[in-house]
Amino acid sequence: MITHVATTDATVTDTEMTQEIHQALAERELTPGEHAVDAGYVTAAHIVTARTEHGIELLGPAGLDTCHQQHGEDHFAQSAFAIDWQTRTVTCPQGVASVSWSDQHKSSGTPIGRVHFAAQDCRQCPLRSHCTNADNGKWGRSLTLLPRDQQQALDTRRQEQLTDEWQQRYHIRAGVEGTISQAVRRTAIRHTRYIGLPKTHLGHVLAATAINIIRFDAWLTETPLGKTRTSHLANLDPAA
Ligand code: SF4
Repeated sequence: MITHVATTDATVTDTEMTQEIHQALAERELTPGEHAVDAGYVTAAHIVTARTEHGIELLGPAGLDTCHQQHGEDHFAQSAFAIDWQTRTVTCPQGVASVSWSDQHKSSGTPIGRVHFAAQDCRQCPLRSHCTNADNGKWGRSLTLLPRDQQQALDTRRQEQLTDEWQQRYHIRAGVEGTISQAVRRTAIRHTRYIGLPKTHLGHVLAATAINIIRFDAWLTETPLGKTRTSHLANLDPAA
């Protein structure tokens, strides 16, 4: 059942809409216990805010730590470091403690913690080739941490999304994708028939209403679920 329709300019990103959607659902007392979304709607801040402000479990994959792509598989990702939030120190895989933790802000305003290890420690480390090339005379390896609740939510999500259990749970998202696909095919919502956001939004509301009626009718009449569609290209495969 489609319960909320948000229409935006094409330049608005999915991640900008997560909180707005939850707020709109909260105002109508329609917040779900769990919201299955694709990766575009998930940030560490969104996971925490959805949980603490609306009681919603935001179910979607978080972006991966990209340091392996940048530096190779044997590079120490941030997850290899142990963070002690009480003492504001981080211990590296070699057992060395960080020497600096400063509160800073990204250009977007997001607060972050910048953590540094001493260049002297890293310079003589036998694991250095897996860790850092940095040596500006003062600092060796450095890390950027989100606020504690966000960093812990992000680390937890990155770990759990690799498990079979989480993957099974996330299969429910296929139902949302099916609904979107149905709306695209039955109501052609990829292209607006109207000029301007208000009329386009009205068109989307009508399309959502139509889809709800179509799905309700299919449920009442026990219409079998459609099969996964096969592309024209896949149909040409004789082994398929
Ligand atoms: S290079 Fe520095 S931070 Fe990395 S493992 Fe060695 S001592 Fe620790």
